[in-house]
Amino acid sequence: DPTNSAGNHHHYDELDPTDAWDVAYHRASNFVSSLTFEEKIHMVTGDSYAGYCVGNLATQSRANFTGLCMSDGPQAVNRADLISIFPSGVTVAATWDKDLMYRRALLMGSEFRGKGINVHLGPVAGPLGRHALGGRNWEGFSPDPYLTGIAMGLTVQGFQDMGVQTSSKHFIGNEQETQRSMSDGEDKTDAISSNIDDKTLHELYLWPFANAIRAGTTSIMCSYNRINGTYACHNKKLLVDILREELGFRGYVVSDWWATHATVEAANSGLDLEMPGWEARYRRGDPWFGDKLEEAIGAGDVTNMRLDEMIENVMTPYFLLDQDKDDYPTVDDSIAWVRAVTKFGWGSDIGAGLPPMVEARDVRAEHAKFIREMGAAAIVLLKNTDNTLPLQAPKTIGVFGNDAGDPADGMYRDSKVKMGTLDIGGGSGSGRHSNIVTPLDAIQEKAEGLGSRVQYVLNNQLLISGETRMIYPKPDVCLVFTKSWAGEGSDRDSLDLDWDGNKLIASVASWCSNTVVVMHAGGVIAMPWADNPNVTAVLAAHYPGEESGHSIVDILWGTTNPSGKLPFTIPKNPEDYQPPVVRKPQADGNWVSDFDEGPMIDYRHFDKNGIEPLYEFGYGLSYTTFEIGYDTFELDLHVSNAGAASSMPNESLGKKPGGWVDLWTKLATAVVPVTNTGVEAGHTVVQLYMSYPDSEDDQPVKILRGFERVYLEPGQSVDVKFPLLRRDLSVWDVKDQEWRLPYGRFTLMAGFSSRDVAGGSIGMTIL
Ligand code: BGC
Repeated sequence: DPTNSAGNHHHYDELDPTDAWDVAYHRASNFVSSLTFEEKIHMVTGDSYAGYCVGNLATQSRANFTGLCMSDGPQAVNRADLISIFPSGVTVAATWDKDLMYRRALLMGSEFRGKGINVHLGPVAGPLGRHALGGRNWEGFSPDPYLTGIAMGLTVQGFQDMGVQTSSKHFIGNEQETQRSMSDGEDKTDAISSNIDDKTLHELYLWPFANAIRAGTTSIMCSYNRINGTYACHNKKLLVDILREELGFRGYVVSDWWATHATVEAANSGLDLEMPGWEARYRRGDPWFGDKLEEAIGAGDVTNMRLDEMIENVMTPYFLLDQDKDDYPTVDDSIAWVRAVTKFGWGSDIGAGLPPMVEARDVRAEHAKFIREMGAAAIVLLKNTDNTLPLQAPKTIGVFGNDAGDPADGMYRDSKVKMGTLDIGGGSGSGRHSNIVTPLDAIQEKAEGLGSRVQYVLNNQLLISGETRMIYPKPDVCLVFTKSWAGEGSDRDSLDLDWDGNKLIASVASWCSNTVVVMHAGGVIAMPWADNPNVTAVLAAHYPGEESGHSIVDILWGTTNPSGKLPFTIPKNPEDYQPPVVRKPQADGNWVSDFDEGPMIDYRHFDKNGIEPLYEFGYGLSYTTFEIGYDTFELDLHVSNAGAASSMPNESLGKKPGGWVDLWTKLATAVVPVTNTGVEAGHTVVQLYMSYPDSEDDQPVKILRGFERVYLEPGQSVDVKFPLLRRDLSVWDVKDQEWRLPYGRFTLMAGFSSRDVAGGSIGMTIL
């Protein structure tokens, strides 16, 4: 029945007066009742005349509402000046450090707040990273839903503890950029349809969104693509049945920019807010809400009740986070100019209609220190022959490759640039540098202190052509800097490094027997040179943000002992990494991606098919050694209520954002002793993997179900505790449409990577 309300079932008399969401909902309801019809339409349709952020809600002065400003996200305040470029999502995941995940969000949140932005358009769990070539994987965290789920929850919490809303995106199945949205122009070819079965949806793609909702994410952004044939922003099954009913989501659903393609269907399927709506400066046609929604309500196709509900959803988060209070900063006026320049450049008439130009508000504080620390914590040491690293005081250091130096095209280019270091990807998730520390800068600074000398050649082609006459003496260590650009709107062409990186490495290694490779990449890279004996060490630095050079130097010289672990799998052969991006439509012109592999992506795929990876998920070396106390390895299972537990969650505990409360109760704790057996202090990441009982068909060989990054002095031991929640042990039962604990023996394995779990397989019987 299209006239039914799309999902909220809150009634005043049922609400809990102590629940912050309920209190905020009351305020939102009162607010709605003070609005005129005209004003109401403006509350669910973005309006570029109302402000200069990438998303804006108009001021309603009569109702005392100062409007809403939304901004990307997710690695920096995009389209703004005097902001910090933080480590990207994939970099965050590579730290496996919960405290850093939270602190990054808190500091980034303070920058958004400082700029007067109400809503951070992030974090990202879609794409999850089904395709190694996915253009936006770096914005999200990891193809593992558990790791991404923890990162989502902590990111939401950090931002919202700063009073800034989050819009967790892109919901859902937005795994490839190719044909991600309906084509503009005459033909209007439909976006790709991600065809995902119910079980895979729950156990994989939806999983991290549940963490975000549990952490209180105030908004969900529906994606460009179709899911099982229906556009994400018109998908009642997903937006109402799953988000509202199953997961207890209480914020608003906002469309990705121009991802709405209908009025009645969208409004009645759970879309609450259309963006960018009345877009003036970057117009692509009239909004689907706005006047059309007015007409639809007039015709009785959308109810006034539904309209009120949409606004309640939009405004509840605003009151929840006290964004109506006077201490919430006003929007930095410089954003208007920065955005215009970002779009049109200087010289044209970009200032027309803009407020007077003002200097940007500097919101960076001391964040560079944190960015340096986190960037170093994320670096994965993949290879280190005969302890090449850490470097001591080499007499001469060679720095080679076009990724080492200053970006020759300027500090904001947002495209695949030849000359200059890469620390962030492209598209809406990019950011404008106010500062950048390149590897060459940082190495020169370090060398000066050591009395070492630096020779550099940044022209890849020169080196590839075999030209070496400019180099003398032969460096003691040759540091080769390589990169792989990825950005919104397209998927990568290949897993190879850009700018002939493979040839560059081969050519330097052909005359330098101590070649150390550093990669700046947003995800999986093919490394056909990994076994070259002259390549003595390899670092994956991901997209580390503006302190990149410093973070790398800290690892190269051992100021920071490396502890980063791969949040994805690096294959031996690119074809080992499946499934591929869909590059063309079916014969009938329809773009379809069947998620036939089910939950078997990344390491689950390699495990299931017995494929040996080059570097497995969870892998990363250290300058010290750690051991798990297998001799005394005990899974100390505090089976609290599992004995009495039924296989389904106890519904009497109720539902909160995140779904049944009981899904989040702890059923068991695994305790894993770990020791630093080397001579250096450092961090490591202890990882817990689990296999379901044999009674469950088609489950992965193992899945991640816990991780902790711990710091240990030489000789020091610690017991690492892994709480296992009911949801961690459950599977999605398609027949019962509910999470269910399987019967039988679970296997838990602890270790330092997905393939280094030797010695630790111990079973437990839950029921
Ligand atoms: C992107 C979103 C982004 C929005 C606003 C879209 O193209 O897909 O991630 O938040 O633009 O910039």
